[in-house]
Amino acid sequence: MEQPPPAPEGPVVVPPPSEKAVRYHRSGNVIWAVEQLLGLALPALLLFTGLSARLRTIAAGVAHGIFYPTLVVYLALLSALLFVIQLPLAYYTGYAREHAYGLSSQRFGKWAGDEVKGLLLGVLIGAAVLWVPYLLLRASPAHWWIWTGALALPFFGLVLLVTPVFIAPLFNKFGPMKDKALEAEVLAVAAQAGVDGARVFEIEKSVDTKKVNAYVTGVGKTKRIVLWDTLLARLTPRQTKFVVGHELGHYVLGHVWVNIVISSALTVAGLYGVHRTADGLIAAFGDRFGFDRISDVASMPLLMLLLSLFAMVITPAMLALSRHHERAADKFGLELLRDNEAAATAFVALQEQNLAVPRPGRLYKLFRASHPPIGERVDFINGYRPRPGGVDASSTRRT
Ligand SMILES: [Zn+2]
Repeated sequence: MEQPPPAPEGPVVVPPPSEKAVRYHRSGNVIWAVEQLLGLALPALLLFTGLSARLRTIAAGVAHGIFYPTLVVYLALLSALLFVIQLPLAYYTGYAREHAYGLSSQRFGKWAGDEVKGLLLGVLIGAAVLWVPYLLLRASPAHWWIWTGALALPFFGLVLLVTPVFIAPLFNKFGPMKDKALEAEVLAVAAQAGVDGARVFEIEKSVDTKKVNAYVTGVGKTKRIVLWDTLLARLTPRQTKFVVGHELGHYVLGHVWVNIVISSALTVAGLYGVHRTADGLIAAFGDRFGFDRISDVASMPLLMLLLSLFAMVITPAMLALSRHHERAADKFGLELLRDNEAAATAFVALQEQNLAVPRPGRLYKLFRASHPPIGERVDFINGYRPRPGGVDASSTRRT
Protein backbone atom coordinates (compact mmCIF):
# COMPACT_ATOMS: atom_id res chain seq x y z
CA MET A 1 0.00 0.00 0.00
CA GLU A 2 2.87 2.37 0.67
CA GLN A 3 4.58 4.27 -2.03
CA PRO A 4 8.30 4.86 -1.54
CA PRO A 5 9.31 8.40 -0.52
CA PRO A 6 10.03 10.73 -3.41
CA ALA A 7 13.30 9.97 -5.15
CA PRO A 8 16.15 12.04 -3.72
CA GLU A 9 16.93 14.98 -5.97
CA GLY A 10 20.55 15.05 -4.85
CA PRO A 11 21.96 17.09 -1.99
CA VAL A 12 21.52 20.87 -2.01
CA VAL A 13 24.87 22.61 -1.71
CA VAL A 14 25.32 25.28 0.97
CA PRO A 15 27.09 28.22 -0.67
CA PRO A 16 29.88 29.90 1.30
CA PRO A 17 28.79 33.16 2.95
CA SER A 18 29.36 36.35 0.99
CA GLU A 19 32.07 38.70 2.21
CA LYS A 20 29.29 41.08 3.26
CA ALA A 21 27.59 38.34 5.31
CA VAL A 22 30.87 37.59 7.12
CA ARG A 23 31.31 41.27 7.96
CA TYR A 24 27.70 41.46 9.17
CA HIS A 25 28.24 38.38 11.34
CA ARG A 26 31.52 39.58 12.87
CA SER A 27 30.34 43.10 13.60
CA GLY A 28 27.14 41.57 14.97
CA ASN A 29 29.19 39.65 17.52
CA VAL A 30 30.92 42.85 18.64
CA ILE A 31 27.56 44.60 19.00
CA TRP A 32 26.21 41.64 20.95
CA ALA A 33 29.14 41.81 23.39
CA VAL A 34 28.66 45.57 23.83
CA GLU A 35 24.96 45.06 24.49
CA GLN A 36 25.64 42.34 27.06
CA LEU A 37 28.07 44.62 28.82
CA LEU A 38 25.66 47.56 28.76
CA GLY A 39 22.92 45.32 30.15
CA LEU A 40 25.01 45.03 33.30
CA ALA A 41 26.84 48.37 33.27
CA LEU A 42 23.80 50.62 32.94
CA PRO A 43 21.86 49.28 35.94
CA ALA A 44 25.11 49.21 37.95
CA LEU A 45 25.74 52.85 37.04
CA LEU A 46 22.20 53.85 38.05
CA LEU A 47 22.73 52.12 41.40
CA PHE A 48 26.25 53.15 42.34
CA THR A 49 25.80 56.81 41.36
CA GLY A 50 22.65 56.98 43.46
CA LEU A 51 20.80 58.13 40.33
CA SER A 52 18.07 55.54 40.78
CA ALA A 53 17.40 56.79 44.32
CA ARG A 54 17.30 60.36 43.06
CA LEU A 55 14.72 59.43 40.40
CA ARG A 56 12.65 57.78 43.13
CA THR A 57 12.85 60.92 45.28
CA ILE A 58 11.64 63.03 42.35
CA ALA A 59 8.84 60.52 41.65
CA ALA A 60 7.79 60.43 45.31
CA GLY A 61 7.69 64.24 45.32
CA VAL A 62 5.46 64.35 42.24
CA ALA A 63 3.22 61.55 43.57
CA HIS A 64 3.12 62.80 47.19
CA GLY A 65 4.73 59.55 48.30
CA ILE A 66 1.70 57.41 47.42
CA PHE A 67 2.86 53.91 46.51
CA TYR A 68 1.40 53.25 43.05
CA PRO A 69 1.76 56.72 41.50
CA THR A 70 5.34 56.87 42.80
CA LEU A 71 6.10 53.55 41.13
CA VAL A 72 4.61 54.68 37.80
CA VAL A 73 6.39 58.05 37.75
CA TYR A 74 9.68 56.41 38.76
CA LEU A 75 9.24 53.78 36.05
CA ALA A 76 8.50 56.43 33.42
CA LEU A 77 11.59 58.45 34.44
CA LEU A 78 13.82 55.37 34.52
CA SER A 79 12.56 54.12 31.14
CA ALA A 80 12.99 57.52 29.53
CA LEU A 81 16.52 57.85 30.90
CA LEU A 82 17.56 54.37 29.69
CA PHE A 83 15.91 55.07 26.33
CA VAL A 84 17.94 58.25 25.83
CA ILE A 85 21.22 56.65 26.93
CA GLN A 86 20.71 53.71 24.58
CA LEU A 87 19.36 55.73 21.67
CA PRO A 88 22.64 56.13 19.75
CA LEU A 89 23.32 52.38 19.84
CA ALA A 90 19.69 51.59 19.00
CA TYR A 91 19.85 53.95 16.04
CA TYR A 92 23.05 52.39 14.81
CA THR A 93 22.01 48.74 15.17
CA GLY A 94 18.33 49.12 14.30
CA TYR A 95 18.55 51.68 11.52
CA ALA A 96 21.92 52.86 10.18
CA ARG A 97 23.60 49.45 10.13
CA GLU A 98 20.66 47.64 8.51
CA HIS A 99 20.63 50.27 5.76
CA ALA A 100 24.40 50.06 5.33
CA TYR A 101 24.10 46.31 4.70
CA GLY A 102 21.17 46.70 2.33
CA LEU A 103 18.87 44.81 4.71
CA SER A 104 16.36 47.60 5.12
CA SER A 105 14.49 50.25 3.21
CA GLN A 106 12.79 51.50 6.37
CA ARG A 107 12.03 55.20 6.52
CA PHE A 108 13.53 57.08 9.45
CA GLY A 109 10.09 58.18 10.64
CA LYS A 110 8.90 54.58 10.85
CA TRP A 111 11.95 53.56 12.86
CA ALA A 112 11.61 56.52 15.24
CA GLY A 113 7.86 55.97 15.61
CA ASP A 114 8.35 52.29 16.45
CA GLU A 115 11.00 53.19 19.04
CA VAL A 116 8.68 55.65 20.78
CA LYS A 117 5.79 53.16 20.63
CA GLY A 118 8.05 50.53 22.19
CA LEU A 119 9.01 52.92 25.00
CA LEU A 120 5.38 53.83 25.77
CA LEU A 121 4.30 50.21 25.61
CA GLY A 122 7.09 49.23 28.00
CA VAL A 123 5.99 51.87 30.54
CA LEU A 124 2.33 50.85 30.18
CA ILE A 125 3.02 47.15 30.67
CA GLY A 126 5.44 47.91 33.50
CA ALA A 127 2.82 50.08 35.19
CA ALA A 128 0.31 47.26 34.80
CA VAL A 129 2.45 44.54 36.39
CA LEU A 130 5.40 45.87 38.42
CA TRP A 131 3.28 46.94 41.38
CA VAL A 132 2.64 43.24 42.03
CA PRO A 133 6.17 42.21 43.04
CA TYR A 134 6.70 45.47 44.93
CA LEU A 135 3.48 45.01 46.86
CA LEU A 136 4.42 41.40 47.57
CA LEU A 137 7.88 42.52 48.70
CA ARG A 138 6.15 44.57 51.39
CA ALA A 139 3.43 42.10 52.26
CA SER A 140 5.56 38.95 52.28
CA PRO A 141 9.29 39.75 52.47
CA ALA A 142 10.23 36.08 52.87
CA HIS A 143 8.09 34.57 50.12
CA TRP A 144 7.47 37.37 47.59
CA TRP A 145 9.65 35.58 45.02
CA ILE A 146 7.53 32.43 44.97
CA TRP A 147 4.22 34.38 44.72
CA THR A 148 5.59 36.58 41.97
CA GLY A 149 6.99 33.54 40.17
CA ALA A 150 3.63 31.78 40.43
CA LEU A 151 2.00 34.73 38.67
CA ALA A 152 4.55 34.54 35.86
CA LEU A 153 2.83 31.57 34.22
CA PRO A 154 -0.58 33.23 33.69
CA PHE A 155 1.18 36.47 32.77
CA PHE A 156 3.31 34.83 30.05
CA GLY A 157 0.20 33.02 28.79
CA LEU A 158 -1.66 36.31 28.56
CA VAL A 159 1.23 37.96 26.73
CA LEU A 160 1.23 35.11 24.25
CA LEU A 161 -2.49 35.50 23.57
CA VAL A 162 -2.52 39.30 23.46
CA THR A 163 0.67 40.02 21.50
CA PRO A 164 -0.35 38.75 18.03
CA VAL A 165 -3.81 40.30 18.20
CA PHE A 166 -3.20 43.66 19.89
CA ILE A 167 0.53 44.41 19.99
CA ALA A 168 1.94 43.24 16.64
CA PRO A 169 -0.64 45.27 14.61
CA LEU A 170 0.57 48.43 16.37
CA PHE A 171 3.82 48.10 14.45
CA ASN A 172 2.82 46.58 11.09
CA LYS A 173 -0.22 46.27 8.85
CA PHE A 174 -1.86 42.85 8.85
CA GLY A 175 -3.87 42.11 5.73
CA PRO A 176 -5.34 39.10 3.97
CA MET A 177 -3.00 37.12 1.77
CA LYS A 178 -2.99 38.55 -1.74
CA ASP A 179 -2.15 35.33 -3.59
CA LYS A 180 -5.42 33.43 -3.11
CA ALA A 181 -4.21 30.27 -4.83
CA LEU A 182 -1.22 30.05 -2.49
CA GLU A 183 -3.45 30.90 0.47
CA ALA A 184 -5.60 27.87 -0.35
CA GLU A 185 -2.47 25.70 -0.52
CA VAL A 186 -1.25 27.08 2.82
CA LEU A 187 -4.61 26.27 4.42
CA ALA A 188 -4.45 22.78 2.92
CA VAL A 189 -1.01 22.28 4.50
CA ALA A 190 -2.46 23.48 7.83
CA ALA A 191 -5.40 21.07 7.54
CA GLN A 192 -2.98 18.26 6.79
CA ALA A 193 -1.15 19.12 10.03
CA GLY A 194 -4.45 19.05 11.89
CA VAL A 195 -4.71 22.84 12.25
CA ASP A 196 -8.18 23.90 11.16
CA GLY A 197 -9.93 27.25 11.27
CA ALA A 198 -6.75 29.35 11.07
CA ARG A 199 -6.70 32.64 9.22
CA VAL A 200 -3.82 33.49 6.94
CA PHE A 201 -2.34 36.97 7.27
CA GLU A 202 0.17 38.73 5.11
CA ILE A 203 2.07 41.22 7.22
CA GLU A 204 3.61 44.28 5.63
CA LYS A 205 7.16 43.87 6.92
CA SER A 206 8.80 45.25 3.80
CA VAL A 207 8.46 48.74 5.33
CA ASP A 208 10.88 47.62 8.08
CA THR A 209 13.25 45.05 6.65
CA LYS A 210 14.19 42.84 3.75
CA LYS A 211 14.66 39.88 6.05
CA VAL A 212 12.05 37.09 5.82
CA ASN A 213 10.02 35.24 8.46
CA ALA A 214 6.69 33.61 9.33
CA TYR A 215 4.86 32.22 12.37
CA VAL A 216 1.76 30.36 13.52
CA THR A 217 0.10 31.43 16.75
CA GLY A 218 -3.16 32.00 18.63
CA VAL A 219 -5.98 29.79 19.84
CA GLY A 220 -9.62 29.50 18.78
CA LYS A 221 -10.70 32.57 16.86
CA THR A 222 -7.25 34.15 16.99
CA LYS A 223 -5.53 31.13 15.41
CA ARG A 224 -3.41 32.53 12.62
CA ILE A 225 -0.71 31.78 10.09
CA VAL A 226 1.32 34.94 9.56
CA LEU A 227 3.61 35.35 6.57
CA TRP A 228 5.88 38.35 6.11
CA ASP A 229 5.35 39.92 2.68
CA THR A 230 9.14 39.83 2.28
CA LEU A 231 9.03 36.02 2.53
CA LEU A 232 6.28 35.76 -0.08
CA ALA A 233 8.29 37.99 -2.40
CA ARG A 234 11.49 35.97 -1.99
CA LEU A 235 10.47 32.29 -1.72
CA THR A 236 8.78 30.06 -4.25
CA PRO A 237 5.36 28.60 -3.36
CA ARG A 238 7.00 25.22 -2.60
CA GLN A 239 9.55 26.84 -0.31
CA THR A 240 6.84 28.93 1.34
CA LYS A 241 4.82 25.79 2.01
CA PHE A 242 7.81 24.18 3.71
CA VAL A 243 8.28 27.25 5.92
CA VAL A 244 4.57 27.06 6.82
CA GLY A 245 5.02 23.36 7.58
CA HIS A 246 7.94 24.20 9.88
CA GLU A 247 5.94 26.89 11.71
CA LEU A 248 2.97 24.52 12.02
CA GLY A 249 5.41 22.09 13.61
CA HIS A 250 6.16 24.56 16.41
CA TYR A 251 2.44 25.08 16.85
CA VAL A 252 1.31 21.46 16.78
CA LEU A 253 4.19 20.27 18.96
CA GLY A 254 3.32 22.94 21.55
CA HIS A 255 6.78 24.52 21.68
CA VAL A 256 5.46 27.87 22.88
CA TRP A 257 3.71 26.26 25.84
CA VAL A 258 6.83 24.31 26.74
CA ASN A 259 8.76 27.59 26.64
CA ILE A 260 6.21 29.34 28.83
CA VAL A 261 6.32 26.62 31.49
CA ILE A 262 10.13 26.57 31.48
CA SER A 263 10.33 30.38 31.52
CA SER A 264 7.98 30.47 34.51
CA ALA A 265 10.10 27.94 36.40
CA LEU A 266 13.21 29.96 35.53
CA THR A 267 11.49 33.14 36.69
CA VAL A 268 10.95 31.54 40.10
CA ALA A 269 14.60 30.48 40.15
CA GLY A 270 15.80 33.93 39.07
CA LEU A 271 13.66 35.71 41.65
CA TYR A 272 14.91 33.33 44.32
CA GLY A 273 18.44 34.29 43.31
CA VAL A 274 17.48 37.96 43.68
CA HIS A 275 15.92 37.22 47.07
CA ARG A 276 19.08 35.51 48.31
CA THR A 277 21.58 38.12 47.09
CA ALA A 278 19.84 41.51 47.07
CA ASP A 279 19.80 42.06 50.84
CA GLY A 280 23.53 41.33 51.10
CA LEU A 281 24.30 43.80 48.30
CA ILE A 282 22.07 46.43 49.87
CA ALA A 283 23.78 45.90 53.23
CA ALA A 284 27.18 46.37 51.61
CA PHE A 285 26.43 49.22 49.20
CA GLY A 286 23.15 50.69 50.47
CA ASP A 287 24.83 54.00 51.31
CA ARG A 288 25.81 54.47 47.70
CA PHE A 289 22.55 53.04 46.30
CA GLY A 290 20.52 55.44 48.42
CA PHE A 291 18.00 52.85 49.56
CA ASP A 292 18.03 50.33 52.39
CA ARG A 293 15.48 47.71 51.35
CA ILE A 294 14.55 45.89 48.18
CA SER A 295 10.88 46.87 48.50
CA ASP A 296 11.93 50.45 47.68
CA VAL A 297 11.10 51.01 43.97
CA ALA A 298 14.57 52.51 43.56
CA SER A 299 15.78 48.88 43.67
CA MET A 300 14.52 48.29 40.10
CA PRO A 301 18.00 48.53 38.53
CA LEU A 302 19.27 46.06 41.13
CA LEU A 303 16.60 43.58 40.06
CA MET A 304 17.48 44.26 36.40
CA LEU A 305 21.16 43.68 37.12
CA LEU A 306 20.69 40.42 39.02
CA LEU A 307 18.11 39.04 36.57
CA SER A 308 20.36 39.95 33.61
CA LEU A 309 23.24 38.06 35.22
CA PHE A 310 20.95 35.07 35.77
CA ALA A 311 19.71 35.26 32.17
CA MET A 312 23.31 35.23 30.90
CA VAL A 313 24.10 32.11 32.88
CA ILE A 314 21.09 30.16 31.57
CA THR A 315 21.30 31.45 27.98
CA PRO A 316 23.29 28.49 26.56
CA ALA A 317 20.75 26.00 27.94
CA MET A 318 17.77 28.01 26.66
CA LEU A 319 19.34 28.33 23.23
CA ALA A 320 20.06 24.59 23.13
CA LEU A 321 16.39 23.91 23.87
CA SER A 322 15.37 26.37 21.15
CA ARG A 323 17.65 24.67 18.61
CA HIS A 324 16.16 21.32 19.64
CA HIS A 325 12.68 22.72 18.90
CA GLU A 326 13.84 24.08 15.56
CA ARG A 327 15.18 20.70 14.54
CA ALA A 328 11.88 19.07 15.55
CA ALA A 329 9.94 21.66 13.52
CA ASP A 330 12.18 21.09 10.49
CA LYS A 331 11.50 17.37 10.78
CA PHE A 332 7.77 18.02 11.08
CA GLY A 333 7.82 20.17 7.93
CA LEU A 334 9.72 17.48 6.06
CA GLU A 335 7.30 14.76 7.13
CA LEU A 336 4.34 16.95 6.28
CA LEU A 337 5.41 18.16 2.85
CA ARG A 338 7.91 15.49 1.84
CA ASP A 339 9.76 18.07 -0.21
CA ASN A 340 13.41 18.02 0.89
CA GLU A 341 14.54 20.07 -2.04
CA ALA A 342 12.14 22.95 -1.32
CA ALA A 343 13.20 22.82 2.35
CA ALA A 344 16.94 22.92 1.69
CA THR A 345 16.72 25.57 -1.03
CA ALA A 346 14.45 27.67 1.23
CA PHE A 347 17.26 27.75 3.79
CA VAL A 348 19.82 28.71 1.17
CA ALA A 349 17.50 31.55 0.11
CA LEU A 350 17.13 32.53 3.77
CA GLN A 351 20.89 32.53 4.20
CA GLU A 352 21.32 34.91 1.29
CA GLN A 353 18.39 37.16 2.19
CA ASN A 354 19.19 37.48 5.91
CA LEU A 355 23.00 37.67 5.43
CA ALA A 356 23.46 34.58 7.58
CA VAL A 357 26.75 32.74 8.01
CA PRO A 358 25.93 29.04 7.44
CA ARG A 359 28.66 27.56 9.64
CA PRO A 360 29.44 29.93 12.54
CA GLY A 361 31.93 29.14 15.30
CA ARG A 362 31.19 27.14 18.43
CA LEU A 363 31.06 30.14 20.73
CA TYR A 364 28.47 31.78 18.53
CA LYS A 365 26.36 28.66 18.59
CA LEU A 366 26.66 28.32 22.36
CA PHE A 367 25.76 31.91 23.27
CA ARG A 368 23.77 33.31 20.36
CA ALA A 369 22.22 30.68 18.08
CA SER A 370 18.50 30.17 18.75
CA HIS A 371 18.33 28.20 15.49
CA PRO A 372 20.73 25.54 14.24
CA PRO A 373 23.19 27.12 11.80
CA ILE A 374 21.79 27.01 8.25
CA GLY A 375 24.62 24.74 7.10
CA GLU A 376 23.61 22.15 9.72
CA ARG A 377 19.95 22.45 8.79
CA VAL A 378 20.65 21.86 5.11
CA ASP A 379 22.97 18.94 5.95
CA PHE A 380 20.19 17.44 8.06
CA ILE A 381 17.59 17.90 5.32
CA ASN A 382 19.93 16.42 2.70
CA GLY A 383 20.32 13.30 4.82
CA TYR A 384 16.71 13.00 5.98
CA ARG A 385 14.22 10.61 4.45
CA PRO A 386 10.58 11.18 5.41
CA ARG A 387 8.89 8.05 6.74
CA PRO A 388 6.94 6.12 4.14
CA GLY A 389 3.34 7.20 4.53
CA GLY A 390 4.25 10.50 6.19
CA VAL A 391 2.19 12.48 8.67
CA ASP A 392 -1.48 11.83 9.27
CA ALA A 393 -3.56 12.92 6.30
CA SER A 394 -0.80 12.56 3.74
CA SER A 395 -3.07 9.90 2.25
CA THR A 396 -4.81 12.81 0.56
CA ARG A 397 -1.60 13.33 -1.36
CA ARG A 398 -1.52 9.79 -2.64
CA THR A 399 -3.93 8.36 -5.12
ZN1 LIG B 1 11.32 27.67 13.83
